[in-house]
Amino acid sequence: MKKHRSTSPTSKRMTRKAALAELFQLRTDWYLALSHAQFEAAFEQRNRTSEALRVVTRMVLGPRRPGQFTLPCAVCYGRYAEEIVYEQGKTLSTWCCTSCRDRLREEGKLHESVTQEQETNPL
Ligand SMILES: [Zn+2]
Repeated sequence: MKKHRSTSPTSKRMTRKAALAELFQLRTDWYLALSHAQFEAAFEQRNRTSEALRVVTRMVLGPRRPGQFTLPCAVCYGRYAEEIVYEQGKTLSTWCCTSCRDRLREEGKLHESVTQEQETNPL
């Protein structure tokens, strides 16, 4: 029987943190592909995948310290997120670790002032 093997040049073994990043990117891509109605209809599935990703994140990153979110840093996936920042050129906030926040800040890639939503929010 013939074995199916990947001939992809990226078929070498993937690190656990790289695998975690792939899974989160896959979920983000799935969310972005859904219409608003599909997003609403997928409520249960979104909850299940979120819990599955939290379980896998704990397996990869270990126990959290106080103040850390249950999700990994969306920049490096090597640590738990501890901050919510607004990157220039992105419409959604980024949950990241303190190290990535500091690096993004040093590189001048963050919106440090009040966000547009907050400025225009009538409440
Ligand atoms: Zn990070």
